[in-house]
Amino acid sequence: MDERTGLPVVGMIGAGQLARMTHQAAIPLGQSLRLLADSPDDGAALVAADVEVGDFRELADLRRFARGCDVVTFDHEHVPNEHIAALEADGVAVHPGSAALRYAQDKLAMRERLSAMGVPGPRWAPVATRADLERFGARVGWPLVLKAATGGYDGKGVWVVDTADDAADVLAAGVRLLAEEKAPIARELAAVIARSPFGQGAAWPVVETVQRDGICVEVLAPAPDLDEDVAEQAQALALRIAAELGVTGVLAVELFETRDGLLVNELAMRPHNSAHWTIEGARTSQFEQHLRAVLDYPLGAPTPTAPVTVMANLLGGADDVVPKGIDERVHHSMARWPDVKIHLYGKQLRPGRKVGHVTALGVDLATVRGRARAAADYLMHGDLNSDANAAGA
Ligand code: ADP
Repeated sequence: MDERTGLPVVGMIGAGQLARMTHQAAIPLGQSLRLLADSPDDGAALVAADVEVGDFRELADLRRFARGCDVVTFDHEHVPNEHIAALEADGVAVHPGSAALRYAQDKLAMRERLSAMGVPGPRWAPVATRADLERFGARVGWPLVLKAATGGYDGKGVWVVDTADDAADVLAAGVRLLAEEKAPIARELAAVIARSPFGQGAAWPVVETVQRDGICVEVLAPAPDLDEDVAEQAQALALRIAAELGVTGVLAVELFETRDGLLVNELAMRPHNSAHWTIEGARTSQFEQHLRAVLDYPLGAPTPTAPVTVMANLLGGADDVVPKGIDERVHHSMARWPDVKIHLYGKQLRPGRKVGHVTALGVDLATVRGRARAAADYLMHGDLNSDANAAGA
């Protein structure tokens, strides 16, 4: 407990943009996140007062950090599961706990568990050898999606392979692998919910996550023209997964929409990019909700504040290695799109890196999306071509 305020201390392991935005949500609750940062330059370490620099892979560092915390939670899923279990054995309240988090850390464990629960997903199989892969390919057809169960290899964790030859390097790398059928994806959706240790659950509207080259570029909330029954089914599925796995905090269930229904792609047990829109677009943001949930407070209303909200990620392009003129662009974009909210994460711009996002709200999807897109393109590339909706439109 914080002696000055009488309020509990929440510690977050990791100090990236999710921690930065959770810290922002902690302030009106009378709190200030305690952070375990890799470096004093991490996005959240730049703005929070109570920062410890340490290595999340080292149990000694985790133990030292946990000592001052009433609850420990995460900005990422890379903390070794056995270290989380060790903290729990020490009596530390960790949310989500190691038993649940395992299914967000290990794709093989996740597929096994969800299949046992009867949750729909792409057909899959563990693969260790070329023969395993060929057998699975003969059953479900090529191309296949090969995934590292944990971590990755050569900076990647997902490979689409047309033949077993394509997979030779990955198979030889000695990482635990699974193969999935390549699902006929119409679009990608996310069902984001929160669950408290008490068992209360709350679901935001199901969103569409628009992908380009395997990266989420926009989130449309709610998912346009999504059948109401399918939306309810997705929310119920996410709440059921959270209850059965014992997830506490925010859970994002990434989904594929196909002609034959929904398939679960993967799980994230922390605030997630697909719910950044909730900062302005919902009565309770995912960051406030995550705090409420891990503290076992009653959850807030997830009700939308506008008929349509669009979030566009700010991604560094291959061209602009240095954020030249970003301040000037912020200035102009504020003038041109006064209703669009800008979030910058305090990161250096690098090709492909997510350095922030923008959010627009309104009634008409095409207008709202156009404004978010235009502001994001302008902020990142100084590109005004996509501006179909200048101020006042
Ligand atoms: P990561 O952990 O790197 O986010 P994902 O498992 O979410 O990896 O996969 C990244 C992307 O690859 C997905 O968003 C989707 O576009 C594509 N993908 C993943 N699995 C499949 C699959 N079984 N079929 C078709 N596309 C897939």
